[in-house]
Amino acid sequence: LPVIAIVGRPNVGKSALVNRILGRREAVVEDTPGVTRDRVSYKGEWLDRRFTLVDTGGWEPDARGIDASVAAQAEVAIDLSDVVLFVVDATVGATATDEHVVRLLRKTKKPVFLVANKVDDARQEPEAAALWNLGLGEPYPVSALHGRGVADLLDEVFKVLPQVSAVAKEEFGGPRRVAILGRPNVGKSSLLNKAAREERVVVNDLAGTTRDPVDEQIELGGKVWRFVDTAGIRRRVHLQQGADFYASLRTQAALEKAEVAVVLLDVSQPISEQDVRIIDLVLESGRALVLAYNKWDLLDDDRRRYLEREIEQDLHHVAWAPRVNISAKTGRHLEKLVPALETALESWDTRIPTGKFNAFLTELVQAHPHPLRGGKQPRILFGTQASTRPPTFVLFTTGFLDPGYRRFIQRRLREIYGFVGTPIVLNMRVRE
Ligand code: GDP
Repeated sequence: LPVIAIVGRPNVGKSALVNRILGRREAVVEDTPGVTRDRVSYKGEWLDRRFTLVDTGGWEPDARGIDASVAAQAEVAIDLSDVVLFVVDATVGATATDEHVVRLLRKTKKPVFLVANKVDDARQEPEAAALWNLGLGEPYPVSALHGRGVADLLDEVFKVLPQVSAVAKEEFGGPRRVAILGRPNVGKSSLLNKAAREERVVVNDLAGTTRDPVDEQIELGGKVWRFVDTAGIRRRVHLQQGADFYASLRTQAALEKAEVAVVLLDVSQPISEQDVRIIDLVLESGRALVLAYNKWDLLDDDRRRYLEREIEQDLHHVAWAPRVNISAKTGRHLEKLVPALETALESWDTRIPTGKFNAFLTELVQAHPHPLRGGKQPRILFGTQASTRPPTFVLFTTGFLDPGYRRFIQRRLREIYGFVGTPIVLNMRVRE
C-alpha cells in the first residue's frame, strides 16, 4: 500500500489529524508527553483508496530533545513514505523547530503537503496563508478537530499518491524486498557490509526498476535482492531520548516496504523483550520471517545450551521460521541466508486450491472433531484461501471455533503444507 507519513512538532495536532483521516472519533492514545505509542502505522481508506498512515509523532520529547526528535521523524518520513504531510500550528506560526524540519523536507523529491492546522474558521485563514513563506508551496488550512478542510487536503494528496507504493511497484519481476531488523548492536550493519563487500553491489539500473537511495540492491547467491531502508541501518542516529520509538518507527516503516524480514538476534546476549517485540511486529505486518542468530563465533558450550532453552521458551511461537546461525563478522554461513529467504518467500506466496483445502478440512474434522460445547458442535461448512502474502484462509462455520481448535488447524496446515517462514491467517465467517 502507498504510505502517507505525518510529521510535525508536538502539540500541532498530529493525532487529531490521524483520527480525522482514519475517520475515528476517539483519540489514538491520550497525549501524555514522553509516552511511547506501540502503534505507529494504521491502515486507512478514503473514497475506496487504501493506504498506510504512519504517525511519526508517537513520542513527544521534552524541550531539550525536540529538534533532534522531530528531525529524526522527518528523516524516517522522507525515507519510507510516498507522501509527507507536514503539520504546522497556524495559530502559533512557524517556529525555529518547524524551520529546521522545512530545510530537511525541501531536499526531498517526494511530495510534501504543508498542513496549517487549527484553522477552525475562515477568519483564521490569513494566518495559514502566512506560512507560504516557508517555501513548501501552498499551505492547506484545516481544522483536524472539526474536520474543516481535511477533505480538500486529501483530494489533493490522492492526486499525487501512487496507487501502490513506489517500491512495491516492482512486485512483478523486480528483486524481492528484504528488511534487516533487530535491536541496536545485533550486527545489522555488519551483515550488510559483509554481504555488500563479498558480493557484487548492483549499482546499475536494472531494467524496469528505479533505484531508491534508501535501499540497496545486492547480489547474493546468484540473485539480486533489494534490501530496504539500508539508509536507516547505515545512518547512526543518536538521540538522548526516544531512541526506542525511533527504532520502532523505522522497523514498522521498513516492514511496510518489505516482503520478508530477517530478524537478527545476538547469541552472546540473552533474548530480550525487545527482540520478541520486533518479531511480533513482523507477525503483525504479515511479512515472511527468517531468524538469523548472529555472533555465532562468540558462542561457547554453556551459552549454547542456555540459548537453545531460551529459544524454546521465548520464540516457540515462531518455531516455523527458518533459522540460520551466522557470524556477520567472520562471514560464517552467510550463504545459508539465501535458501532461507527463498523458502520463506515461497511459503508466503503459496496458494492451496479450494478443493484440496476442503479435502484437508474434511479429513481433519473426521479425525479430530471440534469438542462439544453445551451439547452443540460448531461445524465447518466450507473453507477457502482468500489470499496469499501471507496465506489467509476463511472458514465458513456454524459457530465460533475455540481458539485451541483454530491453533490446531494451523498446526495441521503446517504439518501438511509446510508454510515454513510465513505467518498464516485464519479468519472465520459464522453463519447462524
Ligand atoms: P547494528 O547496530 O545492528 O547495525 O550492529 P553493528 O553491525 O554495528 O554491530 C555491533 C557490534 O557487534 C560491532 O562492534 C560489530 O563488530 C559486532 N558484531 C557484529 N556481528 C558480529 C559477529 O558475528 N561476531 C562478533 N564477534 N561481533 C559482531
